[in-house]
Amino acid sequence: MKLATYTVEGKTRTGIVTDNRIIDTGVDGTMIDLIRDWDTLKAPLEAKLEAGGGVPLSSVKLEAPVQRPGKIFAIGLNYADHIEESKMGTPERQVWFTKAQTSVNGPYDKIDIARGTVTADYEAELVAIVGTGGKHIGVDDAPAAIFGYCVGNDVTERMWQHAVPQWSLGKSFDTHAPMGPWIVTADELGDPHDLDIRCFVNDEKRQDSNTKHLVFNVWEQVEHLSVGMTLEPGDVLFTGTPGGIGAAMDPRQFLKSGDVVRCEIDKLGHIEGTMKDED
Ligand code: ZN
Repeated sequence: MKLATYTVEGKTRTGIVTDNRIIDTGVDGTMIDLIRDWDTLKAPLEAKLEAGGGVPLSSVKLEAPVQRPGKIFAIGLNYADHIEESKMGTPERQVWFTKAQTSVNGPYDKIDIARGTVTADYEAELVAIVGTGGKHIGVDDAPAAIFGYCVGNDVTERMWQHAVPQWSLGKSFDTHAPMGPWIVTADELGDPHDLDIRCFVNDEKRQDSNTKHLVFNVWEQVEHLSVGMTLEPGDVLFTGTPGGIGAAMDPRQFLKSGDVVRCEIDKLGHIEGTMKDED
């Protein structure tokens, strides 16, 4: 099933996405509430999907599927070609940082170039959305802990990423976590580790890889993070970006106002945001 968060006539709802339509789930609350109650909601929502109806997808505004995740974690240096272009060694342990809740942005919303900055950059990423979650989740149990997947752009302010040893500030600027366009549930997606992933800037292909090249796969990521921390429904994991970032180009290419950044992943769709100077 494809599940979206959307706004229509001033109300933000969750919906089931079909080919060109969206059907209100009728569930009170947010995507996190829906994920928490998924065991009881799945069958009635499948029936709703079967019955059809809804409104044209083009008549609503799609929002980030999870608008206020309890946690947003992102892994760095997790594709070999990106490690090489970053001129860093392959990490022995997973390198994680947080992105602030307030960095969440809709799949087609504008992306801010923050005041006084000139080094905004893109990172197309597979995003995993935690379902049941839990703690001390082994690799074998990790697939069942994930609710679904979407496309993300781990937008990064490179100067601020590297100005201090901890990356979180440079990764957490407002609007710098666009996600969507909807969640494809884990059962519908199948294997998350064999998906082409690409990023385009103004139709120029910048990143082109496949999630089979992840250094630490999603299951290892879940095992690692849950070693001491409870993963909760709706938590968001950015699973790493392949090579091709603007900062590694020669000469370096950072995003400018008016640039259109499109990130796409097989079976998940695409997100696309236009860069603009912060108001
Ligand atoms: Zn990233």
